[in-house]
Amino acid sequence: MTATIHRAKYALVNPDLLIENAAVQVSSGYISSTETWESTAPASEVEVVDWGSALIMPGLVNAHTHLELTSAHNRLNQFSSFTDWIAKLITMRRSWTAGQIVDSIQEGARLSLASGVTLVGDITSSVVSISQENQKLRRIFFEEVIALAPERADEILSKLSLEPAGTGSRFSAHCLSPHAPYSVSAQLYKGAAELARKQKRLLATHVAETQAELQFLRNGTGEFREFLDSMNLMPADWKPPGVHPITYLNGLGVLGNSCILIHCNYLDQQSIARISNSQSSVVYCPRSHHFFGHEKHPVRSLLDSGINVALGTDSLASNDSLSVLDEMRFLFKTRKDIRAEEIFRAASLNGAAALGFKGVLGCLNPGYAADMTILELPHAFKPRHALGQILEGAGDCIATIVHGQIEWRKEDVYSLGAAPAPG
Ligand SMILES: [Zn+2]
Repeated sequence: MTATIHRAKYALVNPDLLIENAAVQVSSGYISSTETWESTAPASEVEVVDWGSALIMPGLVNAHTHLELTSAHNRLNQFSSFTDWIAKLITMRRSWTAGQIVDSIQEGARLSLASGVTLVGDITSSVVSISQENQKLRRIFFEEVIALAPERADEILSKLSLEPAGTGSRFSAHCLSPHAPYSVSAQLYKGAAELARKQKRLLATHVAETQAELQFLRNGTGEFREFLDSMNLMPADWKPPGVHPITYLNGLGVLGNSCILIHCNYLDQQSIARISNSQSSVVYCPRSHHFFGHEKHPVRSLLDSGINVALGTDSLASNDSLSVLDEMRFLFKTRKDIRAEEIFRAASLNGAAALGFKGVLGCLNPGYAADMTILELPHAFKPRHALGQILEGAGDCIATIVHGQIEWRKEDVYSLGAAPAPG
């Protein structure tokens, strides 16, 4: 089997290690060595891809998005409240054909690859058949379930089009997503969590996203009550649980080490402790958080509590790009209390861990799968504080490698592969 050496001026192996004049050797989709060019011992048959003065870093992970909403970009910027935005989104979404949804997902996948993302946690509310054959991006897709009427729980779970458990590949897995505490009954949450546990599937849910959600769970009032009443979706005998959404989900058995809690914009100390004890992951979506004008996110406390925090873009209905690099740069600019290494870790190792790729993706260590993002650097780039410079804006993605294959490349990038092997 021919091995490939990717040579570049720099390789950012993990948040704490930068190698100069680097050589990443890849065989059968996995990294076999990451060293300096001079010290690399090439396999007997080796092809060299020389990325010149660029930097190689781990493929980025977008732990929460909705690729099917890619075509909603810039179409939902005018709204009076969160529920008004949801109502507009529902109306728009209903007008799309299955073909338009497939196109939207594929465009989202293309944009992801073109920004250096190699793995996404993707929520899908429509079961549209998407050929996995030509799939280049790793996509963990979460089938969304939604119904506040408790009597619908069994029927919804029985109709899920889940592929048999264990049939996921290294590129794809079919998981579950009860939408949110204001749109999913306790019965449906419990049933989905039980199913996910039994079949070893990940479970993701939007939670504690707005103050209105906290109010609705506390006493059943506010904009969610009005919204659900207006949509005729409020079950007659529904009673508010009277607790914080995290306490509520914990009581329903949702939290756990395969659970991904999306947003968590409004947490108290008790809920942070609950998340930490449960080993659930949290996905923070900084630009979507900003889009809706939320209060300061408790990400610092989450990190200090040792919680696995990943980054997500959410959909283009509340963001400007599906680029995790853009997300990292926005976070670096707006939150001086979060260190560059923490941001990088959230977008790589932590995202991989949240989506079931712990020890497989997120760094360039030997044994890890060869997902890599290639950044072209400006001339002024210095190896000291490399990560800080990247987060300040230095570097454009020129190629994306998934499982050892170059799956996206900027069209005008210089020709490759001419360099001789070291030694
Ligand atoms: Zn979302």
